[in-house]
Amino acid sequence: MKPFLLVMLALAALSGCATNPVSGKQDFVMMSESDEIALGKKSDLDVRKEYGVYDSPQLQSYVDRVGQRLAANSHRPNLQYHFTVVDSPEVNAFALPGGYIYITRGILPYLGSEAELAAVLGHEIGHVTARHAVKQYTASTAANIGVQIASIFVPEINAPGGYDLVNVAGSALLSGYGREHELEADRLGSGYLARTGYDPHAMIDVLSVLKNQEQFDIQRAKEEHREPRIYHGLFASHPDSDTRLQQVVAEAATLQSSPHPVVGKRVYLEHIDGIVFGDSPSQGVVRNNEFLHAGLGIAIQYPAGWTIKNSPQKLIATNGDAAMAFGIAKFQSTPADFLTQRFGRGELSTFQSRDFSGAILAFSPRAEAAAIRMGDKLFVIIGSGKSSASFSLARPEIERTIRSFHTLSDSERKLAQGLRISVRRAVAGDTFERYATESPLGKDAAGYLRLLNHAYPDGEPHAGDEIKVVE
Ligand SMILES: [Zn+2]
Repeated sequence: MKPFLLVMLALAALSGCATNPVSGKQDFVMMSESDEIALGKKSDLDVRKEYGVYDSPQLQSYVDRVGQRLAANSHRPNLQYHFTVVDSPEVNAFALPGGYIYITRGILPYLGSEAELAAVLGHEIGHVTARHAVKQYTASTAANIGVQIASIFVPEINAPGGYDLVNVAGSALLSGYGREHELEADRLGSGYLARTGYDPHAMIDVLSVLKNQEQFDIQRAKEEHREPRIYHGLFASHPDSDTRLQQVVAEAATLQSSPHPVVGKRVYLEHIDGIVFGDSPSQGVVRNNEFLHAGLGIAIQYPAGWTIKNSPQKLIATNGDAAMAFGIAKFQSTPADFLTQRFGRGELSTFQSRDFSGAILAFSPRAEAAAIRMGDKLFVIIGSGKSSASFSLARPEIERTIRSFHTLSDSERKLAQGLRISVRRAVAGDTFERYATESPLGKDAAGYLRLLNHAYPDGEPHAGDEIKVVE
């Protein structure tokens, strides 16, 4: 993500005045619209690279159609908007300046209708029309650099051609813009819903579902030692009892263009039937802290208690004081040659198994790197600590992880296929507990299924309902 940061740094030097499309007032310290679009376009490449685009042209064009209709009714109808479903299990949506809007495929299973999809997109369009990201970019530049330094314990790792460990999730894009901007995005989004023929109360429905999901996932994340999947626009109070939110939505309802608002449950469920749920098999899945990748045919067991963060660009595990980054290098030589050319001198050892040859190089008092050659691929694991003491402490775990590298067994290959959403019709007597017994989601299955079907915490399916299950 280096270019992304450079763009933001360059921005810090920009200043000037521009008219805010929503307020009509002059905004101080704002870039021109063409600079804004250029920034969005440039960063869009990084977002696509970081997350990957979800591979379903049909779903992409559906989301784009819904988004374009809303955008045409927004305060900036002449801006060219781009709506993209990114291949991330996170539950989120975000916007870059200039009309680049992203929704994760991870949020889609939790939405129940086209109106709710429109609510999420409308909220993001609100961030674009009110130019929140533009304001945030300059304000958050320093904070972003902080994130970068914190996530790269050892500077050598970031050498040319190496592994960028910048954590984009630390930026305001994903974590939200603060209460006032979020409420403004809800207000603007509700207005766009109303003018496009949807009921703006879908905004409250969506935020309520996502709030329930947040509370549920915080608990799961704690048990699974990962970061919770949290929608960026949520605040402490529950949306059902948030009086300011209720108020902005009620105001939007007076703009409603149609006495029969579009819900679009059937058409929405048709489009998400079969989408990936949770980790993406194409990016590798994590089960019990084991990383399994069907395409590469490999598995690595990470230590219990470490948090694993996976994206198409990198796989990073950390315990807070030490981190391990995993990647693939383009290098046609032996593991030992790669390590010494890439990291220089240090204590070098080699190891061997049936499937591969490997080497480990301790190239710094607080870091070591391993390279593993399997066929024409060279896998690289870099372990580092915040200090040499924390590295020494974590080193046995890092080396156990390196040596756990292996080719997938048959049962692991099956796990690596990942999970998908399937829509079925409930029959009389169905319960979520019964669905849960057939579900691969484990002990929390009933809770997940209720969340996915807007029946959390204790609802049950009604005969004839279309129900989302996970298979
Ligand atoms: Zn927001």
